[in-house]
Amino acid sequence: MSYCINDKLSKLTPYAPLTGEYPVRLDANESYFPMGERMSEKIAEAVKKVDFNRYPDPYAKEVCALFAAYYGIQPETVTAGNGSDELIGVLVNAFLEKGDRLVVTEPDFSMYAFYAYLNEVECIAVPKDDDMRVDVAAVLEAVRQSGARAVMLSNPCNPTSLGLCREEVRRLVEGTDALVILDEAYMDFWDQSFLAESAEYDNLVVLKTCSKAFGMAALRLGFAVAGGRITTALRAAKSPYNVNAVTQAAAKAVLSDPAFLKSRTAKLVNARRFLEEELRELAKKTDQITRIYASCTNFVFFSSPKAEDIYAGLLECGIAVRKMGTFIRVTAGGMDENRAFLSNLQHILTGEEPVR
Ligand SMILES: *Cc1c(COP(=O)(O)O)cnc(C)c1O
Repeated sequence: MSYCINDKLSKLTPYAPLTGEYPVRLDANESYFPMGERMSEKIAEAVKKVDFNRYPDPYAKEVCALFAAYYGIQPETVTAGNGSDELIGVLVNAFLEKGDRLVVTEPDFSMYAFYAYLNEVECIAVPKDDDMRVDVAAVLEAVRQSGARAVMLSNPCNPTSLGLCREEVRRLVEGTDALVILDEAYMDFWDQSFLAESAEYDNLVVLKTCSKAFGMAALRLGFAVAGGRITTALRAAKSPYNVNAVTQAAAKAVLSDPAFLKSRTAKLVNARRFLEEELRELAKKTDQITRIYASCTNFVFFSSPKAEDIYAGLLECGIAVRKMGTFIRVTAGGMDENRAFLSNLQHILTGEEPVR
């Protein structure tokens, strides 16, 4: 006799991010800023005071209050998670039942379909339009036709970097009774957040993360913002002590300094602007960059028939980006990293020697 792993699980392989030594990491959309000496000290002090023998606050109340204050929303509407990734998992697992349908757009963040698969929820993928934008009418039609219980999308979108304006989001939320899960992981880099309106609807959850603009990917902290009914259900469904005490202590130190967060966010936007503008300049010198999308995020998404060569060539120079078919997604890094990326890309596409 032997134990048999079920079918859906035996088809899965563990998530394997790029490993190996790549000095320039522009593949995961992280902030390029380290915490810095002053903030690291503040975090260390806060962590020293953690009661390591005690369970953490199950609702991370202080962290949620600071998060709410930063965005000017009500703390009662906020639920913290072990990364927004955990919250995506809980939403799919608890708000949907086996055999339910979930509408997603294609391409979008891969974790949506992953959790749907794991929870035996049928994923219905609505393709982005010819310009890679979300077609709200097509999404609503897919929800209606399939009887889907939920729609999940990132806005601005990872990987396309494009944003859906508030009016369009409103049209989506008001156009259906299904639960709309709006992942605003990158909205700090744009200005069309739906956060302020999130508690006004009974079919909406907005997700946020500390992993991108806030530069705390290592801590694993995300938030779900919703009205009372959904928030109560979400808190009931999540694992009790999902956000550990070290993360809570460190996040309190960082979130209590809004000026620190705002100035870094602005610098990340500038870094992305630089990267995108320089890429547009480079595109004038080669016909191998076919389209550069107008980014609302901290990364740039472009297409090239040479995507494979670009990806492999950059890796050889120690520069990691993401490749998706004929598309490349590159995170805005520090000035040196962006220059290294641009100059090596130019070399790969035109043969011009890279600037060291
Ligand atoms: C990076 C990212 C997240 C963040 O996930 P965490 O688990 O909070 O690190 C969520 N959604 C999208 C679309 C992302 O790109």
